[in-house]
Amino acid sequence: MYKIPLIKPYITQEVKDKVIDVLDSGYLTEGPVTHELETLFQEYIGCTHAIAVTSCTTGLELALRALGIGPGDEVIVPDYTYPATASVVNIVGATVVIVDVDQQTMLIDYDAIQEAITEKTKAIIPVSLFGNPLDYGKLNKIKNQHNIKIIEDAACSLGATYQDKKVGSLADISVFSFHPRKFITTGEGGMVTTDNDEWAAWMNSYKHFGMSKSDERQAIQFERVGTNYKLSNLQAAIGVVQMQHVEELLLKRYQLAENYVGLLKNVSNIVLPQTTEGGVHSYQSFCIFIENRDEIMRQLRDIGIEVQIGTFALHKHKAFNDNPFVRVVGSMKNSQYVFENCLTLPLFHDITPNEQEIVIKTLESKDLGI
Ligand SMILES: *Cc1c(COP(=O)(O)O)cnc(C)c1O
Repeated sequence: MYKIPLIKPYITQEVKDKVIDVLDSGYLTEGPVTHELETLFQEYIGCTHAIAVTSCTTGLELALRALGIGPGDEVIVPDYTYPATASVVNIVGATVVIVDVDQQTMLIDYDAIQEAITEKTKAIIPVSLFGNPLDYGKLNKIKNQHNIKIIEDAACSLGATYQDKKVGSLADISVFSFHPRKFITTGEGGMVTTDNDEWAAWMNSYKHFGMSKSDERQAIQFERVGTNYKLSNLQAAIGVVQMQHVEELLLKRYQLAENYVGLLKNVSNIVLPQTTEGGVHSYQSFCIFIENRDEIMRQLRDIGIEVQIGTFALHKHKAFNDNPFVRVVGSMKNSQYVFENCLTLPLFHDITPNEQEIVIKTLESKDLGI
């Protein structure tokens, strides 16, 4: 147990009561509570459809399938991300094209996308990593120029905005995660958002064993081969209560992040990542760049402060560098840099200013070698 953990899920008495209600109802699988979560999400994002799924990973797979992406197609992803962003491309039989990221924002390099596009490119899966929104001015230019689709891996970015539009309403299809490391959690789970009726209907059918979603009084028809990516009422109950408090939780997060920024002002040898111009960060993770990261991470953990790396550089992993269905375009030097230097600090809804000060003071003393 850490004295100051990296994250703490928002589990209040209200959340527990809602879960108990579901248990008492006996209706445990996907049902009205799942739909309540979908509606809350759809209204919050301001999109036409929100479809609950078992995880961000299965949601990304669903999105690729809805767009008909498969063998022979190429999909561009950033090198610096969680492996799921790329794995799903291989899972549907398509080829992963990995490009570098920007060193300051840690997001996909827009020029590198241009260089990696071929006639086979069907989509990009850019990642709004750690809650930093993507530059849709640049992405939409690429999309329109090459007639490709954008599936946003928005696992980390519920609440982030770009030019006052919420993440989840900007891409063709966006996919969020409810893993406990994320800002809103259901244990495991995810949400797919889109404005396209046809894709939404297809995804709803595919995640329900290929069932057609017709009038309940009609006989069930299985229109296609499908699978089961339903999110249970039981899990959704946890998310519903959190979503009812999303604005205040987000505001709190923002204040906590600002507090870190203030505390870090005078700390030498630390650089803060940049937020996309025109965007508002949602701080799923509060990251800094620091030299000698691994050593500092170890020392902080040893005294009870749980810090973590940012995420992974895919090209370093066998799954992607020893794979005939992966193409790496470019040197990945920025990805390598952020992989080695990014450190995530503890951040959760009820971390106290005092705890934040302890984190930064400790970091400072370690950094100075005191
Ligand atoms: C957490 C995360 C995922 C995976 O989400 P799951 O819901 O666990 O499948 C994918 N991409 C990114 C960028 C993530 O941070």
